[in-house]
Amino acid sequence: MEFRFTEAQKRLRKEVSEFCEEPRTQEILKELEAEGELYNAHSWELYKKMAKRGWLGMQWPKEYGGQGLSFEETAIFNETTAYYRIPMMGYALTSIIGNALIHFGSEEHKKEYVSRMAAGEILFCLLYSEANAGSDLASMQTRAVEDEGDYVINGTKIFTSLGHISHYGFLAARTDPDVPKHKGISLFIVPMDTPGISINPMLTMGEGRVNEIAFEDVRVPQKNMVGEKNKGWRLLNKALAVERSGLGFVAGAQRGFEDILNYVREKGLGKDPVIRQKLARLATEIEVAHLLAWRVVSLQSKGLVPDSEASMSKLYGTELIQRVANTGMEIMGLSGLLKGNSKWAPLEGKMESAYRSSRFVTIAAGTSEIMRLIISFRGLGLMPAYMM
Ligand SMILES: Cc1cc2nc3c(=O)[nH]c(=O)nc-3n(C[C@H](O)[C@H](O)[C@H](O)COP(=O)(O)OP(=O)(O)OC[C@H]3O[C@@H](n4cnc5c(N)ncnc54)[C@H](O)[C@@H]3O)c2cc1C
Repeated sequence: MEFRFTEAQKRLRKEVSEFCEEPRTQEILKELEAEGELYNAHSWELYKKMAKRGWLGMQWPKEYGGQGLSFEETAIFNETTAYYRIPMMGYALTSIIGNALIHFGSEEHKKEYVSRMAAGEILFCLLYSEANAGSDLASMQTRAVEDEGDYVINGTKIFTSLGHISHYGFLAARTDPDVPKHKGISLFIVPMDTPGISINPMLTMGEGRVNEIAFEDVRVPQKNMVGEKNKGWRLLNKALAVERSGLGFVAGAQRGFEDILNYVREKGLGKDPVIRQKLARLATEIEVAHLLAWRVVSLQSKGLVPDSEASMSKLYGTELIQRVANTGMEIMGLSGLLKGNSKWAPLEGKMESAYRSSRFVTIAAGTSEIMRLIISFRGLGLMPAYMM
C-alpha cells in the first residue's frame, strides 16, 4: 500500500498554501479572530476569492460550476485550509448541501442553486436540529403542511451555523405525523428572507455565533421540496456522512501540535520527561488520525459511501483536536489561561482560544457517543437493545 499524490495534486496543495499565507488572507484571519472563534466565522472576501480559483464544489460536474475533480483534490483543499486555520464553515455547508442537491435535487435545483454556490454567490445553512431533536433527529417537530400548491412551515430550529448570513436554508420538516418517525420527513429549500422567519443569536463558549431560527406560517412552493415527499431521512443521513471525513480536524490538530512543539523548544521545556511523553503520544495519535481520514477519502474516491469508517475518523479526529488543546493548556500552565489580548499570553492566546472553541467539535454533526453507536452497530453488528 502506498499513498502518492499526482503532480497536479501537489501543485494544488502548493497553490492553496500560498493563498493561505498571502498577507491579505492573514490580515482577514486576524480581524475574524478579534471578533470570536474562527470555526463558525465567515469571510465573503476569502470565500469569493476561493470560488474564483474554482475551489468551491471542486468535485461537482462542470455543468453546475464544479471542476469534475475527485474527492482527493477536495481533501487536499480541506486539509490545507484547516492547517492554516481558515474559517471553513461556509465551505463545509456548501459541500454538504451542494452534494445533496446534485444527488437528489431536480434539474431545476441544480441549475438554480448549485452553480451559484460554486461561484461563491450564495450560502445555505443547515436547518436540521431542534431543542428536542439533535442526536435523535428523527424526533423533529417542525411541520410542513401542503396548502394550495405550497408548503406552510411552522417550528423552530436551533444551533444553525451561519443562519444569520445565509441566503437559503436546507430544511428538514415533518410532512406526515401519522407514520413511524423516520418515515414522515421531507427536505426543502427555504429562502431565508421569506416572511415569517425570525433569527436570534445563540452564543458559543468559543465566542462564536450560531442561531435559533423560528418559522411561523412560512410558505414555500412545492418545487422547493428536494427528493420525494416523506423520504427525506435517507437523503439527510447520506448528506451528513460527507461531513464526517474528519480530515480538517486532523490538520487542525497537527497545526496546534506544531505550535505547542515550537513553544516547548523555545522555552527549553523538552528536557521534562512528562512533556516529552505527552508530545510523543500526540505525534503518534496524529499519524493514526491521518490514516483514518485518508481511508475515508480513498473510499469516497472509489465511489463508495463510507459508513462506520467516517464515524471512526470523525470521532478520533475531533477528540484528538481536544486532546491537543488540553495538552497545550497543561504545558503552558497558568499563563496559558490568558486571552490573546494580553501581552503575556503564550502563542498570542491561540491555545486558550482553541481549548474553548474545540469543545463543540465532538457535538456538532453527531456527538462522540453517536459516532461510537454507529461504529458498534453498523461496523461491529452490535444492535442496541431499543432496536431489537
Ligand atoms: C457549534 C455548533 C454548531 C452546530 N451547527 C448546526 C447546524 O448548522 N445545523 C444543525 O441542524 N445543527 C447544528 N448543530 C447541532 C448539532 O448537530 C447537535 O448539537 C448534535 O447533533 C447533538 O444534539 P443535541 O445538542 O440535541 O444533544 P443531545 O442529542 O440531547 O445529546 C445530549 C447528550 O446525550 C448523548 N446521547 C444522546 N443520545 C444518545 C444515545 N442514543 N446513546 C448514547 N448517548 C447519547 C449525546 O452524545 C450527548 O452527550 C450544531 C451544534 C453546535 C454545538
